Amino acid sequence: MEIRGLSATGIRDFLQCKLKVVFRYDREIPSIKNDHARIGIAVHEALEQFTRRMLAKKSFPDSSDYEFAITQFMNCATEEGLGDMGFYADGKQMITEFIDRYDPSEEIVDVEHFFKIETPDGVPIVGAMDKVRKLNDDTIEIVDYKTSRNAMTAWQLKDDIQLSMYDLAASIIWPEYSNRVLTLDYVRINKTVSSYRTSEQRETFREFLVSVWHQMNKLDENEVRGRINNLCGWCDYKTYCPAYAEFVKSQDLKLTPLAEMDNDEFLEHWVQVSDMKNTLESRQREMKMIASEKAVQGESISSKDKELYTTQAARTNYDVDDVAGIIPEGDLLDVLAVNKSKLDRYLKERPDLRDSLSRVAKVSYNAPVYRVKEIKNNEKDANDRSDSDTNAA
Ligand code: SF4
Repeated sequence: MEIRGLSATGIRDFLQCKLKVVFRYDREIPSIKNDHARIGIAVHEALEQFTRRMLAKKSFPDSSDYEFAITQFMNCATEEGLGDMGFYADGKQMITEFIDRYDPSEEIVDVEHFFKIETPDGVPIVGAMDKVRKLNDDTIEIVDYKTSRNAMTAWQLKDDIQLSMYDLAASIIWPEYSNRVLTLDYVRINKTVSSYRTSEQRETFREFLVSVWHQMNKLDENEVRGRINNLCGWCDYKTYCPAYAEFVKSQDLKLTPLAEMDNDEFLEHWVQVSDMKNTLESRQREMKMIASEKAVQGESISSKDKELYTTQAARTNYDVDDVAGIIPEGDLLDVLAVNKSKLDRYLKERPDLRDSLSRVAKVSYNAPVYRVKEIKNNEKDANDRSDSDTNAA
């Protein structure tokens, strides 16, 4: 199988399931875009074009810049076929908030920097960096925009393949900078998280790339089999995948009364229900895509006694300045709410207020999320030992 270069996505596919690599690179089956992917593409396009425009203007953004960026977003989103109107509102809000915090004093090295280079070990790597900026004479920051709702933790960033790829690529492309900060900018939730790689980590990543590269090139597309995993439901190629078809056929969910299950059965059933849920959710997403394509073309989906119809909840927003100009000042506190991310930004300018605000902060917790994890044998042994110590005492 011939692969022209390693990308972070290709490596993730390889680690998840080798058949996915065959589908993507050998059979060149195009991936299926959903509205989440489409909004991501449109927001990236708008932010890139906006930043290029501001680099030429070198000023704070004015209303024409907001309009320009939103038009870029709308044009790209409609061209991509984004169907969900709620996503248009989300995209406009992300772009507006991004422009609100635009800093014209940033020293931008490049935007949407595409690279296709060879590592010192001769492995071709490819990718694109959303923004590269100079922080000082020794340091650059590589920024990747994300439109998801949940940010990765600092701990997860340490092992992130995409960031390791950026770090290695930047060390080759801009060797004059000895330090590289790797940042994910979550534009939907207005949060940035950063990481870095030590030279030892970079070295290990290079060795990892060599190994992946050799193994990927040895893949025999006639021999590779699909490996069912908990991300199959989101796989773009599941429609073509024999392993997935087999898996869906074999899922026979027995609803044994829960009270009769011991812990082993309960955990096994938990995993089975989660897999089924992922599979069904992904199936429903695909069905929604088809339904909305048909709706765009003016076709309805109906049978003798059923019809598919849609409802859409409207969201109404108000601009704070407009509201403040209408509602009497004394009543404003009853209707306005504190925007946490804007307050966090404000506190960067006024750190002296941080302590007072932390005393009045109210913390609440979401409903707990349950997950199943594997217990390593030595962890279990240690638990067993401490149990028997306690019992002996
Ligand atoms: S559906 Fe699952 S097993 Fe099939 S190619 Fe995708 S990841 Fe692999």
